[in-house]
Amino acid sequence: MAVHVTDGSVKAQPVKAQPDRAEPKVEIYDTTLRDGSQQVGLDLTVADKLHVASVLDGLGVDVIEGGWPGSNPKDAEFFERVKQMELRHATLAAFGATRLPGRRVEDDASLAALLAAETPIVTLVGKAWTLHVDEALRTTRAENLAMVSDSVAYMAAAGRRVVFDAEHFFDGYQADRGYALEVLAAAADAGADTLVLCDTNGGTLPDDVGRIVAEVADRSRTAIGVHFHNDASCAVANSVVAVAAGGLHVQGAANGYGERCGNADLFSIIASLELKRGHSLLPSGRLAALASTARTVAEVANLPFEARQPYVGSSAFATKAGLHASAIARRPDAYSHVDPSTVGNQAQVLVSELAGRSNVLAKAEELGLDLTSDPSLAGQVLEQVKTAEHRGYAFEAADASFELLVRKTAGVLPSWFELEGYRVVIERAGTTDRSEAIVRLLLGTDRVVAVGEGVGPVHALDQALRRGLAEVYPALAGIHLVDYKVRILDGRAATSAVTRVMLTSADADGEWTTVGVSDDIVTASWEALADGVMYGLLRAGAQALTEVEISEAV
Ligand SMILES: [Zn+2]
Repeated sequence: MAVHVTDGSVKAQPVKAQPDRAEPKVEIYDTTLRDGSQQVGLDLTVADKLHVASVLDGLGVDVIEGGWPGSNPKDAEFFERVKQMELRHATLAAFGATRLPGRRVEDDASLAALLAAETPIVTLVGKAWTLHVDEALRTTRAENLAMVSDSVAYMAAAGRRVVFDAEHFFDGYQADRGYALEVLAAAADAGADTLVLCDTNGGTLPDDVGRIVAEVADRSRTAIGVHFHNDASCAVANSVVAVAAGGLHVQGAANGYGERCGNADLFSIIASLELKRGHSLLPSGRLAALASTARTVAEVANLPFEARQPYVGSSAFATKAGLHASAIARRPDAYSHVDPSTVGNQAQVLVSELAGRSNVLAKAEELGLDLTSDPSLAGQVLEQVKTAEHRGYAFEAADASFELLVRKTAGVLPSWFELEGYRVVIERAGTTDRSEAIVRLLLGTDRVVAVGEGVGPVHALDQALRRGLAEVYPALAGIHLVDYKVRILDGRAATSAVTRVMLTSADADGEWTTVGVSDDIVTASWEALADGVMYGLLRAGAQALTEVEISEAV
């Protein structure tokens, strides 16, 4: 049985060699927060997930799949908290499986959790390969079709747009074409809006993908989407081929994150389809944010950013100059496949994403700081950022530290406190760790010495700093630490390894991230801590002690 046979009058566009703007918009569906976070070593907190969602929304992807609310409390919490977030472009999707065999949809806890997530889109995954129905699900093929049909109809009746992920579709299609198509038909007839052909084991090659997607799309009245894994190193190629064959919805993950060899890298797919196939996928002008988005997501994920990553990596357009230097300078287009600036990248080696003048200005503007009126100030900030980034600072994911740096350079940062010095004692007794910190601060003309205790040196320093400031700045009581990440950076400028600390603080209105870098982990942590507290005081509108004294004297 075929899916909605339309006797030859095909809906999908034939494959075209030339770009055609009139083609229907291809939907970009991000699954970083669900499938991408299956990657070993990628562990996102709820705060991280919210941060990644806002970054991807800023880039302009169409759909953000937030997670699997029925599978773990963290994802359920994400969907609760994301309701407070204002997404500018993206629509949220929640992911889940079709109902269990022999169970009524109304009694299925996983479907109930999906409804409770209250997302406009629900993505349901169902089996499309007979081997999996027989061996993994261990139910009848008819019951599997009923599971798909009932679950899709249930979500559609609840007013959700339903995306149906046909798991193992390509393997299933090659093993039993008729049944794989019956599964799609069951979902489409029940009201699914998009049928996603998934290459769950990731082993399908581009020629098979092109043929199968064209065969399915040509016969389907429902939009066809695709979801590839990279086990044969073809996930991006398969996605591009699938779109040429009539696919109208592409799923992928930031930086190709995902289990085993990863999901299709959404950033490469977007760049290839926009720059080489004439598709408009992101809102106008946002393609230039691709490189900084890729880097920011890597920072939030606390994973090393791959220099060789196509389009967005720092080496993606770096040529070993040597003899060709003058030729490259004369005709840069002869040595790179696209203009690096189209994706927000640069041709040089070791130039950070942010350190470009236009990026710094854009970033400052985003934070509400106008640097354009004073060209010398913009130049000074740029120099500071370059120097800091060379030492290992990363400001893409640490907006708060960047804003403090700009304000300090511009001479508009209040001096709430100054550090005279600190001492930390680390003690281990039996199996218990305990640390004590003594912090000496200058508050205006006063000198304050405060002691803090904690489970580790950073905790103790945080306690001591707060104790020292609490009386003068009561706003600090509403500020707390929510996340602490450490990364060892090596191979930089042939010096010894340095430690970078990223620290996220929060008050009742939101969160902010600060960064510290040093050879020593405690010093790096102190920097990030002090920045975090200062930024919190800035948000709270706390007046520096000296200003208070001055205003009282006047
Ligand atoms: Zn997958």
